[in-house]
Amino acid sequence: MKKVQFITGVIVMIVGFFAYRFGVAMNIAKSSTVAEIVSKYVPGLFSLEQTGLILEFAGGIILLLGIILSVTSLMEPKISYVPAPVQEEAEEEEIKKEVKRCKFCSAELGEDEIFCSACGKSQQ
Ligand SMILES: [Zn+2]
Repeated sequence: MKKVQFITGVIVMIVGFFAYRFGVAMNIAKSSTVAEIVSKYVPGLFSLEQTGLILEFAGGIILLLGIILSVTSLMEPKISYVPAPVQEEAEEEEIKKEVKRCKFCSAELGEDEIFCSACGKSQQ
């Protein structure tokens, strides 16, 4: 899941970057080939100048979102709750230690039983 988020973030970054670059290129040189290409796909709704501005701002925001996505995907493992399962395991071991078992047949023994009640062998 983390890898998917990182790759998505990188793709969003690239898309945002290109949108931003298109917007900047359109605003700097309004008769550029970039402006001509974009104007073909953005029919008449906005002027070239407006389209350039929209692309520049939207691209910048998308670029930032991409950066946030990929950075958080890299940071999350450090904050994740890894200690929880380790604690549970430790608790389980403690419970196991509390139960005294026979050295020979591993039958459960009472706290101060010297002889095993199952096989009768001494535990000392
Ligand atoms: Zn025994």
